Amino acid sequence: MTSVKLFKTIAFIGFGLINSSLARVVKTKGLAEKIHAYSRSEATRAKIKKLNIVDNIYDNSAEAVKGADLVILGIPVGATRDTVSTFASSLSPGTIITDVGSVKQSVIDKLSSVLPENINFVPAHPIAGTEKSGPEAGFETLFEGHWCVITPTKNTDKEAIKKVTKIWESAGMQVAEMDAQYHDLVLAITSHIPHLVAYSIVGTVAELEDHLKTEVIKYAAGGFRDFTRIAGSDPVMWRDIFIDNKEAVLEMLGRFIEDLTALQKSIRWEDKEALESLFNKTRLIRKGVVALKQD
Ligand code: NAP
Repeated sequence: MTSVKLFKTIAFIGFGLINSSLARVVKTKGLAEKIHAYSRSEATRAKIKKLNIVDNIYDNSAEAVKGADLVILGIPVGATRDTVSTFASSLSPGTIITDVGSVKQSVIDKLSSVLPENINFVPAHPIAGTEKSGPEAGFETLFEGHWCVITPTKNTDKEAIKKVTKIWESAGMQVAEMDAQYHDLVLAITSHIPHLVAYSIVGTVAELEDHLKTEVIKYAAGGFRDFTRIAGSDPVMWRDIFIDNKEAVLEMLGRFIEDLTALQKSIRWEDKEALESLFNKTRLIRKGVVALKQD
């Protein structure tokens, strides 16, 4: 346990799975003197209170950020502009604001239009999560062993990047810097398309005739069961990710559909060689993922 205080007051704006997990780390490791939390609903604020990890809970985001030297946004990316507009004028000059959004370029664009110039924005994406939502779903070890990607712009302050990096390293993450648009393209194929496939397959089941649907759900075996877990992720969060990362998702979806059509042809023509060759290539990708401890 370290008692090195990285910040005086950290204000968490939005307090669901990601921000509550990070707040647990901040509390246990003593990374800030004070922890503020804002969430818009009474129900979530009541859950935060029960957790006993923050010093002050607010129903007003402008009050929550007052005096904070670090503000962390943990809300759906589509809510960024409206939420930050409500507290932007209450930020102290020099405050660092960072986010955890799964899409980066859209968040940068939105914040550049609402943040005062004397505020240091550090766009970040901790690539760790589960399909669960809400403050009670968080846990301290969520980030351990995973990557956090910071996507600075040409205006991002270097000292602010260092401080945000320290927070994520304290949570057990490795931190890398990447161009925001490149991040969005990479995440489109590693995360967004896999979720889209899960939503689509489980959506196909939802449209089946009632008797067939009942049997599928009853006998949900390995593969389908895993898809239902992914497709059980938060609907608003994922709605926003697909809309905010539209260009990159459509680009990767185009390639995916081409490859899927090729696979369809291989099955129709019973092209054993093509099928086996592809499945060997994919097995190598899996080995690479396991070797890098990302499984
Ligand atoms: P979550 O558990 O669903 O919590 C969402 C938080 O945002 C709650 O405090 C909620 O407030 C608030 N919120 C929802 N809609 C809002 C709106 N329209 N305006 C203002 N506040 C709103 O979400 P999460 O999983 O922590 O995700 C937060 C962010 O992290 C998202 O941007 C997501 O892309 C990113 N992320 C998620 C994961 C993951 O696996 N979940 C991984 C990496 C990054 P109330 O509960 O009070 O309504």
